[in-house]
Amino acid sequence: MTTMLLYNGMVVCLGQADKLFDRGYVLVENDRIAAIGSMADLPANRHYDARVNCAGKLVLPGLVNAHTHTPMTLFRGLAEGVSLFTLDGWYNSIRTLELVMTPDMVPAAVEVACAEMIRTGTTTFADQYFFMDEIVPVVARSGMRAALAYGVVELGDPAARARELARVDAFLEDMGQQTDRLQGWVGPHAFFVDNTPESMQAERLLASKYNTGLHIHLSTDGEEDAFCRQHFGISAVSKMRDMGMFERPVLAAHSITIPPEDWPALAASPFSAVTCPSACMRAGADAAPVVGMRAAGINVALGTDNVCNNNDYDLFIQMRLMALLASFREKRPGALQAREALDIATAGGAKALGLADEIGDLSPGKKADLIVMDRGGIGWTPLPSNDPFTALVYSINGLQVTDTMVDGQWLLRDRQWTTLDYADAVRRQSEDVRRLLERRDAPV
Ligand SMILES: [Zn+2]
Repeated sequence: MTTMLLYNGMVVCLGQADKLFDRGYVLVENDRIAAIGSMADLPANRHYDARVNCAGKLVLPGLVNAHTHTPMTLFRGLAEGVSLFTLDGWYNSIRTLELVMTPDMVPAAVEVACAEMIRTGTTTFADQYFFMDEIVPVVARSGMRAALAYGVVELGDPAARARELARVDAFLEDMGQQTDRLQGWVGPHAFFVDNTPESMQAERLLASKYNTGLHIHLSTDGEEDAFCRQHFGISAVSKMRDMGMFERPVLAAHSITIPPEDWPALAASPFSAVTCPSACMRAGADAAPVVGMRAAGINVALGTDNVCNNNDYDLFIQMRLMALLASFREKRPGALQAREALDIATAGGAKALGLADEIGDLSPGKKADLIVMDRGGIGWTPLPSNDPFTALVYSINGLQVTDTMVDGQWLLRDRQWTTLDYADAVRRQSEDVRRLLERRDAPV
C-alpha cells in the first residue's frame, strides 16, 4: 500500500458531511481517501510514503465537466458569431469542417482538451463525439476519469442507422476491457432531430445490454417538442417516457426548454440536466431553469460543451456564469447560492455519471480525485474560514489550480502536466488546423 499525506491546507470537503478544515489534512491510501481531519487531530509518529505541504493552499474535490466534445478544440475560434444551436449555424460552420476532418487530427485535439481540463481543475468529464477509436487511447493516457459516448447521427437513413449501431455495439464491447476509470456510453446526438424514434429505441436497448446510459442534446430551443407534438400529440419528454427511455440514465445537455409539467417525471428518473451557460449565452438562447429544475428534484450538472462557443474548458468560469445567470433569469439576487454552484459542478456531475458513491466530494472511502489551489493568487482575499465558496465561484479561476489528482495519481504537479505534453499537442494541433483549413478552402 502507498500512502500520501496532504497536510496544512484548507480542506473543503463539500458533500453531505460538508466538513471544512481551516488547517487540515487528507490521507490518501493507493487510489482512495483514507482519512480527513484537522491538523490538531493528525495521529503523531506515523510514516507516510509521501508528504505534500499544502500551507497557503486549498484542497477541493475535482470538478466534473458533464458535457464536452473534446476533438472540437480543433475548431476553436472557427465558428464565431454563429449559433451552433441552429441547423443553419451548425451546418455552415462546424459541418464544413467536420466534412474534411480526418481521424489523424483527433489525438492532438483531445490531448489539448484533456490538458486544459486537468490544468483548470476538472478530474472527470462526459464526452460525446465520433472518432472514439482515436479519443479513447488519449483519454486513457491522460489519467482522467471519463464517460465516453459514441456519437450517433442517422437522420432516418436505415443503412446509416445499421452501420452506426453496429459501431456503438463494438465500441461498448471494447470499453468493457478498459480501465474502470473509463465508461462507454451511447451518444445519440439529438433525439428526434437527427435520431429517429426507431434509432432511439435501438440505442436504449444497447444501453441496457451494456448497463450504461445515454448522453444526448435535448431542449435547446423546443424543436423536439414541436416535432413530437406534431407527430405524436405529446411533448418530447412524454414521448421519451412512453418509449422507456428513462429506464436508463440519461444525461441531457442544455435542457433549456423542457416544459415544467414534465419536470416531476424527470425528477423520478435517472435523468440529469447538464447546463452549459457560455454555450447558451453565446447562442442567444434562453438560460436553463436551473433553480426551478433543482427545486423540482431534478439532478443538475455543469458542462462546457464544445469550445467553439465558450471558448475554454475552465469549469470555474462556467460555475460563475451559471450562478450569475440564475439570478439574471430568476430576477432575484443569490437565486443560486455559491455553495449550490459548487455542488452542481462536483456532486451533480458525479450523480449524472452514476458515480455518486465514488467521487463528487472528499470523504473517507471515496476515490482520491482532488485538486489543490494556490490561495496566494488574485481574488482570494479576504477569505473567511467559514466561507471559501464565494471566492471559489465568484472571484478566482481555474488557473489557480496547482495540482490535480485522479485515483491517487498526480496528473498535474506544481502546474506541470505529468501525463500529457501540452506544448507538443498544441504544436501538432496547429499543423492539423492548417491542413484542415487548406482542405476546407480548396477549390472544388
Ligand atoms: Zn454539445
